[in-house]
Parts: sequence; structure tokens; C-alpha cells
Amino acid sequence: MSMSLRVAVVGAGPAGIYASDLLIRNQEHEIHVDLFEQMPAPFGLIRYGVAPDHPRIKGIVKSLHNVMDKPNLRFLGNITVGRDITIDELREYYDAIIISAGAVRDREFLVPGGDKSIGAGEFVGFYDGNPRFERSWNLEAREVAVVGVGNVALDISRILAKTGDELLVTEIPDNVYESLKNNKAEVIHMFGRRGPAQAKFTPKELRELDESDTIQVLVDPEDIDYDGPSEELRRADKSIDLNCQVLEQYAMREPDDAPHKIHIHFFESPVEVLTEGDDIVGIRTERTEFDGEGGLRGTGKFTDWPVQQVYHAIGYRSEPVEGVPFDLERHVIPNDGGHVLGEDGFEDSLYVTGWIKRGPVGLIGNTKSDAKETTDMLIADADAGKLNTPTHEDPDAILGLLDERSIDYTTWDGWYRLDEAERKLGEECATHSRERKKIVEWDEMVSYAHHKQ
Ligand code: NAP
Repeated sequence: MSMSLRVAVVGAGPAGIYASDLLIRNQEHEIHVDLFEQMPAPFGLIRYGVAPDHPRIKGIVKSLHNVMDKPNLRFLGNITVGRDITIDELREYYDAIIISAGAVRDREFLVPGGDKSIGAGEFVGFYDGNPRFERSWNLEAREVAVVGVGNVALDISRILAKTGDELLVTEIPDNVYESLKNNKAEVIHMFGRRGPAQAKFTPKELRELDESDTIQVLVDPEDIDYDGPSEELRRADKSIDLNCQVLEQYAMREPDDAPHKIHIHFFESPVEVLTEGDDIVGIRTERTEFDGEGGLRGTGKFTDWPVQQVYHAIGYRSEPVEGVPFDLERHVIPNDGGHVLGEDGFEDSLYVTGWIKRGPVGLIGNTKSDAKETTDMLIADADAGKLNTPTHEDPDAILGLLDERSIDYTTWDGWYRLDEAERKLGEECATHSRERKKIVEWDEMVSYAHHKQ
């Protein structure tokens, strides 16, 4: 039997937008979605996680934009669910709720001195102009360590190694450019605790690291090593094999006169951040080797690398949403196929998708299959009559509640105004015409995108 359903999706990043898209396109039921977002602007990770010099990935926004334009989808920004409105209150207005709040915080780097290391996400938040993060950045270090060999480590190493002027053509705001143009970093050491076949890079991003004339990427030939399981990995996965080929090419080079060098080290496990008072003076790594059983072991051989700043790009983690069960060890919302699990079984009409469901791994496109699993389960539950029945029938009743609470929520029309303002700022740039220049300040974003305009 065809039904009319109202669903609240919490988090307007790719995960939430993909889930919304599947719901509003459902052929069987008429589904209306309200997409809640704590930031004044939509697009989550695309706006505040993807590096500014990655226009191809930022371009995914075009397809998300098309979804957001659809009539059955309503964007409600600048609202923190759990604070401005509780999950139980949402149940009074919606048949079901999907949490898609992503993962923005850094995993902790638990070595002595690790608290002095900067989480990659902090730096990403700064250079992507996220108003919840710092507005200026200390870039005095000439030698910098980046712990981890995944795509986030590539992003931050590349941004650290590029000149401010190379990044001026992107959407970076003025405060970011002002910091980056005085960046003193010349040598960046990335550390992987395992071998080249175990690196988490994607080949395209790894090759791109070397595209700037001001950067040379180097690998020590001694770090190119594979055991039997590594060879297996190469045979089984084309991306891993391509990564290895690119790294082998980097290992065949002699240093040239490029002013910025990125050294990618393998089999070096960071064990301590070395400090003198508040200053970082180095990072200590222990050499590792294959143990003959498919794993690695420490060799007891330690090296101290002179660096003055350390970043850890060892993975992100989600934060709990008030009123929703959370696994504090795995940093995800416990669920079975997308239906949230509490201590006493399934939570009434509560679902989850994206990084907060499965952990912060995978490319943006991978979230689509997640969204499919979650929305299929939600619809199956609707068909089985298991969903909540909201007490408010009027779809605009929720707006009344937001107004009653004087919440300065933003809208999709408001995003158009903010978008136009950012594009205008981009065009007006003195040196280059840019697609946009981001507005950073929270209140300024709200003033463009506010519902009362
Ligand atoms: P990731 O791919 O999981 O990489 C994390 C890295 O940190 C791994 O090399 C891991 O090594 C290392 N690591 C973890 N704990 C460590 C420790 N205690 N000491 C030393 N090294 C440690 O995570 P990510 O780089 O944060 O990326 C998250 C997701 O976003 C990935 O799927 C990524 O592809 C995606 N992403 C894509 C792009 C893009 O441009 N396409 C950009 C950014 C992110 P082990 O393997 O040894 O644990």
C-alpha cells in the first residue's frame, strides 16, 4: 500500500544527500525529506573536507545540488539536532529519522608527546575555511612530519608543500592565503608503519602529489619491499599495484632542485614526538620488518628525524549525537543494516548512514551503497507498519517550532544567496578570477542564508 512519509535526515553531507535522494525518488511511497544540518551551508565533507586544490572532487557538488533542488526535499541549516531540537522531539514530526552526521574529529595519536602533534582534521578545517576551526595557522616549521600514508596525509602534505600563490586560484579565503603565503615548510616526511603495498593512497592522488613544479616526491629505495602477502595484494587489487608502481618510480629518482621535498617513508613506525619544553624538536620512529607470517614487527632500530611540527593523519572519528546510541570504542552508531541498535534492540524509527555508520573509510561514492542499504531497510519497515506515527500532521509545524525557539535556521533559497555572494567575491579577486572565494564567518553565512529574507 502506498504511503505518504516524512523523514528527517540529520547531516547534509554526501551521505545525507544520497539517502535523501533515494527516499524522494522512491516509486512506491510519496516521501518528503527535511535535511537538517548544523552548519549554515550544506555539502559537509565536500565543502569542509575536500582539499581546495581538488576541483574534480569538489565538482561532485553539482550532482548533489540537483538533488537539493528537488521539491520533496527541504534544507534546514544552522540547527544542531540534540541541542536545538531533540531526537524525541523529531519523532513528533517525522515517521523516521536518519543520522548522517559524518566524522570530522581526529583519532588520537597515542604515543609519548603525541598530544603535541596536530590532528590533520584541524588543519583541513583551517584551510577549508570551516568556521568551527582556527582562523590562522603557525607555518614557521621548515621540516614537518606527517604520520600516516592515506589520502588525508597526501592532502595535508601537498597543501604544506605548495606555495600560497599556487593555492590562490582556489576557493581559499583570505585568512588562509595570508597564512599559507608565509609558510616556511621545505621538507615534509610522511611515515607509514608498514610497506608500500599496505599504503592507503589512491593512485591518482599519489601521482598528483608530484605535479607541482615546486615539489619533488622521494622514496628511499630501501623502503620498497614486499613479502608474499604483499605480492598477493598487488595481484588482487589494481589500485594497490598502481600505488606500488608510482612509489617505485619515486624511489628511482635523484633529488633535484625543487624547493619543496616530500619524503614518503615506509617501515618506520612513529613511537614518540620529541619535545623540549613546548617545542617539538623531532619525531622518533622504529624500523619495522615483515615477520614472515603476514604481519610486521619492530626491529629495535630507532631513528630521530629533526622536525619542528608533527601532524597525524591516522583517521577521523565521529562524535556522538545527543539522544542516539554510540559505540565509544569504534566511534560509530551501532546498527544492523542501517537500523540503529540500542541496549534493548532496534531504536524506534531511527536509522544511520555514511561514515558515522561504518567508520571513516572509503571514497565519497562509496556512501551511495550505504545509503541504499539504510533506505531499503527504512522502507521495508514502513511496509511492515513498524514506523513511528508523528503527532503533527502539518509539514510546516516544524518551522513553527523552530521560530518559537528563535532558531536562525537557513534554507536552500538562502544557500543560493550565499553561493552567489561567494562567486561574486571570487570574480572580484584582484589577481585571478576564481570560481568562488569562501565566506568563513558563521554569522555572515547565516546573514545571507537566513530563512527570513
Ligand atoms: P586512512 O585511509 O584510513 O589512512 C590512515 C593511515 O594512518 C594509514 O596509513 C594507517 O596505517 C595510518 N595509521 C593509523 N594509525 C596509526 C598509528 N597509530 N601510527 C602510524 N600510522 C597510523 O584514513 P584517511 O587518510 O583519514 O582517509 C579517510 C578516507 O577518506 C579514506 O577512504 C580516503 O581514501 C578518503 N579520502 C579521499 C581523498 C581523495 O582525494 N580522494 C582525500 C582525503 C580522504 P595502517 O594502515 O598501518 O593502519
